[in-house]
Amino acid sequence: MTTAPADIPEARTGEEPGTPPLLAVTDLTMAFPGRRSATGRRGAPVKAVDGVSFTLRSGETLGLVGESGCGKSTTGRMLVRLLEPTSGSIRFEGQEIARLSPGAMRPHRRHLQMVFQDPHSSLNPRQTVARIISDPLLVQGWSAADARARAAELMELTGLIPEHINRYPHEFSGGQAQRIGIARSLATSPRLVVADEPVSALDVSVQAQIVNLMERLRDELGLSYVFIAHDLSVVKRVSDRVAVMYLGRIVEIGDKHALYDSPQHPYTRALLSAVPLPDPAAERRRERITLLGDPPSPASPPPGCSFHPRCAKAQEVCRTERPLLRIAVPGEAREVACHFPGD
Ligand code: SF4
Repeated sequence: MTTAPADIPEARTGEEPGTPPLLAVTDLTMAFPGRRSATGRRGAPVKAVDGVSFTLRSGETLGLVGESGCGKSTTGRMLVRLLEPTSGSIRFEGQEIARLSPGAMRPHRRHLQMVFQDPHSSLNPRQTVARIISDPLLVQGWSAADARARAAELMELTGLIPEHINRYPHEFSGGQAQRIGIARSLATSPRLVVADEPVSALDVSVQAQIVNLMERLRDELGLSYVFIAHDLSVVKRVSDRVAVMYLGRIVEIGDKHALYDSPQHPYTRALLSAVPLPDPAAERRRERITLLGDPPSPASPPPGCSFHPRCAKAQEVCRTERPLLRIAVPGEAREVACHFPGD
């Protein structure tokens, strides 16, 4: 029987037992064409995302974390079909959408929306807020008057002043501009919002306000989020489960409490050891794990475990055999891709 993960209130999932996940992603891969050499020959395709699989329940937030270039944003863009996957499956509400044509995708598009990192550059500077928020509705065939009324409602819902509906993006602060981006994403009443680093371009004090807003909207509107970020403190706050990505693959995924309290993958342990602790004494006592070198290029990933050149625990098998995601702690719904998980 399918049950909601333990830390998500049943009221938030709104699910009957046995309900399939809202989103089921299997073996998702994105390979970009290789660069041309000086002789004109094209190199091997570069796998930005390499066999990513996870599920997301209605009302749930999955945090997607990892260093820059790990493939988390590319994954997010594939989920909303801004990028077409090279291979793999995306089942949304039970229906395969990974390879739908733009026309066949249209009825699903309203349920899958995205919030972008830099609010100002993601808003058309020549459009008023009314136009920016209304646009997805006009595409769906709404009348201009109804779309404008809905835009005003959404401004209020996201903490903006509806009387500012005829203003332009440059007349708003960064936090307000991100509220406009969120309002636009909600215009078509989506079920899933993919938020790609939605607060990383904002001041710290404003970040908290936007995170509060997103949490309130999730609870009030029954949204589900894939929340992409490199800030593990923010991800811990908003997520129910967390997936850690490294070089295009998920290396650890599970309930956030279990993952943050007892990370099993050496990469997760290193990332978490760099998160500042609120207690200064604990911060002084804590051992930091320094990662060796920079992440390898996805154009030439190391054989075996792609983390092995940076891993202090690496052994011979790590250099030759790719570890698959599997349950590392009996009884825990957490998977880890490591030959030697744990301490
Ligand atoms: Fe480190 Fe080996 Fe685990 Fe990879 S498989 S993370 S190299 S211990």
